[in-house]
Amino acid sequence: METKLRRKSYVAFLVIFITLICACGSGCATKKDGKTANENEEKRTIFAMDTCMTLQIWGPQAKEAMDAAVAEIEHLDRLLSTGSPDSEVSMLNQMHEGVVGNDTAALLARSLALFFETDGAFDITVFPLMEAWNFTGDNPRVPSKKELAGLTRQVDSSLILFEPDNKQVSFPETVKIDFGGIAKGYTGKKIAELLKDYDVTGALLNLGGNVQLVGAKTDGSKWNIAIQSPKKDGYLGTVFTSDCAVVTSGGYERYFVEDGITYHHILDPKTGYPAQSGLASVTVICADGTLADGLSTALFVMGEKRALEFWRNRRYEFDCILYTDTGELLVTGGLKDCFSSELSYRIVE
Ligand code: ADP
Ligand code: MG
Repeated sequence: METKLRRKSYVAFLVIFITLICACGSGCATKKDGKTANENEEKRTIFAMDTCMTLQIWGPQAKEAMDAAVAEIEHLDRLLSTGSPDSEVSMLNQMHEGVVGNDTAALLARSLALFFETDGAFDITVFPLMEAWNFTGDNPRVPSKKELAGLTRQVDSSLILFEPDNKQVSFPETVKIDFGGIAKGYTGKKIAELLKDYDVTGALLNLGGNVQLVGAKTDGSKWNIAIQSPKKDGYLGTVFTSDCAVVTSGGYERYFVEDGITYHHILDPKTGYPAQSGLASVTVICADGTLADGLSTALFVMGEKRALEFWRNRRYEFDCILYTDTGELLVTGGLKDCFSSELSYRIVE
């Protein structure tokens, strides 16, 4: 058996590399120590939330803003990491009940709402499945059909009882939760809010494929954000935008191959297997980073038809770019004036 786990950080580096090419249109000159020539620019690369993140911030207090942003990312990582036994999420998964803090409460509320809105495509109770596949460790495996059938019966966010007023949460012992499909989007959104206290004129936050944009470039113009191609042969296109999140989910990000079959880390909660919806990647562009992240995962599970129906009902909240397994590139109507690509693509209304 030959297995290979492709860590997301490799892709994150690629995305960051491409994004930086675009970002450097803002005229940044990087010094050897990682700081930029202009005192009002600050750039830092960190490893958090199991991925490589590159943060760029512009403004009079860029250094203070960067310190605060990094501290907040590290705080959220400690809180939400399923890999660390004393995180708030891990404690909850061990105790099955408790009173949670503001961040976990906010994530629970958004995740449960998305579960119902997406008809179960987004489901934070997939964690026992993630463990069964060992996507949480270094040696992933294919669980038996019987094992997955037993586990999927317990995957159901409606089993979570959450009282937002007193932040009390409880669920059955068989349930375990994982915010992996939404945490980075929430983090990007939270940092964007935090940066407002620091007079930031612009920020480009690449949280491992989750791009959060704040304000504008130093010349006041928008950013061109490149969308990684699942085939790793360049990119699908670029989105010219500002003050929003650009979040991509793809089966190419973290996967392993066994007996010639590729298994990736976005699971269909109904089958327990990696979602095989006909989509190779989904990018969501949305003012709300939390929603962008949750939806990128959910639309990937839903597949083209359901994803576009979902978009038509909520087209004023977000836009998306779908790339199918057969190489079709679909772009929703709200992006028609800001998406460019050398590939042929279809605008969907
Ligand atoms: P990434 O984390 O690579 O940016 P996603 O945002 O799509 O990609 O999140 C994938 C992660 O979400 C998985 O690693 C797992 O933790 C979790 N997850 C997998 N399937 C689902 C699902 N159907 N609903 C909610 N979360 C999921
Ligand atoms: Mg997501």
